[in-house]
Amino acid sequence: MVARVIPVDPFDLVVFGGTGDLARRKILPGLYRRFSAGQMPRESRIIGVARKAMTREDYRAVVAEAIGEFVAPERRDGEVERAFLDCIDYVAVDVGGDAGWSELSALMREGVVRAFYFSVGPGLFGPLADRLHAHAIADTDARVVVEKPFGNDLASARALNATLAAYFREDQVYRIDHYLGKETVQNLMAVRFANILFEPLWNAQFVDHVQITVAESVGVNGRGEYYDRAGAMRDMVQNHLMQLLCLIAMEPPFRFEPDAVRDEKLKVIRALDPVRSDEIVRGQYRAGATTPAYREEAGDPDSLTESYIALKVHVSNWRWKGTPFYLRTGKRLRARTSEIAVTFKEPPHSIFGEGESWKENVLVIRLQPNEGMNLRVMIKEPGPGGMRLKEVPLDMSFAEALGGEGGADIPDAYERLIMDVIRGNQTLFMRGDEVEAAWAWTDPVIAGWEERGDRPQPYDPGSSGPEDALMLMHRDARRWREIRD
Ligand code: NAD
Repeated sequence: MVARVIPVDPFDLVVFGGTGDLARRKILPGLYRRFSAGQMPRESRIIGVARKAMTREDYRAVVAEAIGEFVAPERRDGEVERAFLDCIDYVAVDVGGDAGWSELSALMREGVVRAFYFSVGPGLFGPLADRLHAHAIADTDARVVVEKPFGNDLASARALNATLAAYFREDQVYRIDHYLGKETVQNLMAVRFANILFEPLWNAQFVDHVQITVAESVGVNGRGEYYDRAGAMRDMVQNHLMQLLCLIAMEPPFRFEPDAVRDEKLKVIRALDPVRSDEIVRGQYRAGATTPAYREEAGDPDSLTESYIALKVHVSNWRWKGTPFYLRTGKRLRARTSEIAVTFKEPPHSIFGEGESWKENVLVIRLQPNEGMNLRVMIKEPGPGGMRLKEVPLDMSFAEALGGEGGADIPDAYERLIMDVIRGNQTLFMRGDEVEAAWAWTDPVIAGWEERGDRPQPYDPGSSGPEDALMLMHRDARRWREIRD
């Protein structure tokens, strides 16, 4: 099955931070893949911007190298690559200063969509918005794409929203959370709202609990300095896990359109209870046989920042009162895996008697690796010997189910989101009030542990986190799902 590709309108996309890690790993290779799939028109242009003086040819070499490194060999094609590189330009601009803006302005064309990707450090988001406005480079239809982190608390997020709002309408601002661009995450909405099967059970009467896990096997590596100021709560929970929680918990939007979806997500965030201090477990990884301790990587021997966090979250509304959501995320864990698991309650009465190996129905939505879904159901164990129950997975891997080229052509989250920016579709981007509401919930939790001088518990690299995180579940007579590839 070949994926249906609808080309977007021609565009000028300016990538501020065009030589950075994100541009090289995700943005540029993603655009190449959309170009080779026929979705990015040849009349479009990508203008890289960084401080360094470079010719257009030098920058094309940077882009070619990024394609060589981050595009799968079977997706590469010399002729397509040359045509793609023809679309690439470069201007040296110091986004915090005044040089280079008139050259950039001169390159922008009339009559095509203008988009500006802020892929520079967050300290430059404000100055960048100021200068785009001062130099009249962004027209009234221009889109700005803002990377994470969107603030590091409510006050800074509000200030950034205010700066953006001074120059751009809300419908021009695209706050990226790349988790929302993942195929499975969108599929979650399709499963919930395009089937009659699940929605009647999707509430506290039938759902025992929900687990959301985003586990990484790597440490903080080169990002230690940034990460040590953030920690897992700010870096992962406030944005990615919160977004996943919203999509699981939200009411059906009246239509799959930006404000309808975002209104429903906002209601979920507002319905969250404050987290109790005994329902949070923070952890920090120790040194392993071959890996340094978190504190060493962070460059602070006394750091109290968490590289792991587990929380029990309560959504106080009619649908969810009484069904806890357990969230956990961390670094240097046993495997790199992200999943949402919805565990249903027991049937009201067992006709098979005691002692049967009955297990709950669990719907698992896998975000990585191997995006897909799995539903655990009980059946009769085949063969003679009476009625014995057995659990079997109804398993669907998207790559396999969609098969062949269609499967291989599932776009990466970033490329899908960039195409949405060009199309002017904000459904999968966070609205300003959503981000602020998420910080308003996160801030007191962080303030609480700072006031208490809370020390994260050490855990071994390659484990599934600190002991107390297991207790968070055990005391509710529940268990975390195993973290594995
Ligand atoms: P990076 O440090 O690798 O690259 C930053 C880029 O900005 C470089 O091209 C640099 O030349 C340019 N730059 C820096 N100062 C500049 C200035 N004054 N004027 C013009 N250009 C300047 O950073 P990155 O990892 O690519 O991250 C970029 C943004 O994306 C950050 O906001 C980061 O938080 C966010 N982000 C990155 C990742 C990732 O995987 N790298 C993931 C999520 C979010």
